[in-house]
Amino acid sequence: MADVNPFESFQEQVDDAAAYLDVDKGMLDRLKNPERILETNLAVEMDDGSIEVFRAYRSQFNGDRGPYKGGIRYHPNVSREEVKALSGWMAYKTATVDIPLGGGKGGIIIDPSDYSESELERVTRAFAKELTPLIGEDRDVPAPDVNTGQREMNWIKDTYETIERTTEPGVITGKDLASGGSEGRVEATGRSTVIAAREAFEYLGEDIADATVAIQGYGNAGWITAKLVEQMGATVVAVSDSSGGIYSEDGFDAVAAKDHKRETGSVVGFHGADEEITNEELLQLDVDLLVPAALENAIDAEIAEGVQADVISEAANGPITPDGDDVLEQKDVLIVPDILANAGGVTVSYFEWVQNRQRFYWDEETVNERLEDIIVEQFDTLVDAYEEHDLPNMRIAAYVVAIERVLTAAEQSGTWP
Ligand code: NAD
Repeated sequence: MADVNPFESFQEQVDDAAAYLDVDKGMLDRLKNPERILETNLAVEMDDGSIEVFRAYRSQFNGDRGPYKGGIRYHPNVSREEVKALSGWMAYKTATVDIPLGGGKGGIIIDPSDYSESELERVTRAFAKELTPLIGEDRDVPAPDVNTGQREMNWIKDTYETIERTTEPGVITGKDLASGGSEGRVEATGRSTVIAAREAFEYLGEDIADATVAIQGYGNAGWITAKLVEQMGATVVAVSDSSGGIYSEDGFDAVAAKDHKRETGSVVGFHGADEEITNEELLQLDVDLLVPAALENAIDAEIAEGVQADVISEAANGPITPDGDDVLEQKDVLIVPDILANAGGVTVSYFEWVQNRQRFYWDEETVNERLEDIIVEQFDTLVDAYEEHDLPNMRIAAYVVAIERVLTAAEQSGTWP
């Protein structure tokens, strides 16, 4: 994985798009930097009675279009710069899909596999206590990200509600159904990734049902992408996780590969696939659709040189470095950018927040239909911007559309005092 500062990549992406917009220099500076960042050190008692300190962050990037919105990541590589970048991507993601929310992100520097469930609960509740003054359904609404899920969201909601002496399920999204979660949330990120990919093939005059697919990362985003793209008739030929990848020229059963990962911890060793491959080999396979669904900076310029896919749908946030982007643009690869492709997660989080506030819940079909409408409509908006302004690629088109939306709201708010 390339050693690129993700915040610098993010700022470069905003600059690239701003070149096509009439933006005041000072305002551009505002659009490239977070409004505020919480940095906190959580002192937590371990099972053996010792105390361990965990550094944690929450970046509130932009709230001009609504409450800050974005996930909480648990990973040893979490850093202030990474959280800032991820919060910026969230601000432009909520704007790309035009939902009334801003952008934020949080993270704890921790490898959760090293800790017991009760230790993780205490770490999570300690973070929730620090977050409580900053979050709320009208302030900042966190959600899951890498290595966090319904369990952590339920803990955060309970800690917040206990301290605030209230019932406020909309303070966080990605909760379990019984705690106020939404139907369709677990599958939402993979679902938007495949809807966006399907639209991209259609734009090229092709049918996704004929596509071969490689997916890097087999967690929530990657595995659901595999399942849904198979349901559309496409052939999944390769998948991977942090331990390595598997490949079969004629495809394999993606659901069975997931079962194998659930049982053993990795897709590696799955008997339904012909061979084992590295993550680098997976990214450079001769496939029609490539889905990076692991972490940022997976595809740098060197790897991009070897990419053979026609379409990339970015399930992960920031999986391609700016240098990698340049190479892929020259190779005419159609990239559906993360801020649209993986926006299903935040879109259904928005639906969850709406349902929590109304105390009125929708069925899964309604959630999926509304998600599909938004992704298809905004894909078309990006294509219109791309063609109308003769933009170099779809990522710049997405940022042009999103920055304009944030800028309009920021200008209407004005500066204060
Ligand atoms: P996850 O923790 O469920 O899965 C991550 C997967 O990536 C795991 O299979 C892991 O083994 C694999 N991985 C980690 N490092 C790798 C490496 N170096 N090479 C190959 N595989 C590697 O996380 P997730 O929720 O699926 O998130 C994946 C990406 O999708 C992240 O970039 C995240 O920000 C993005 N995303 C997730 C959601 C969501 O709702 N889950 C929403 C939007 C964006």
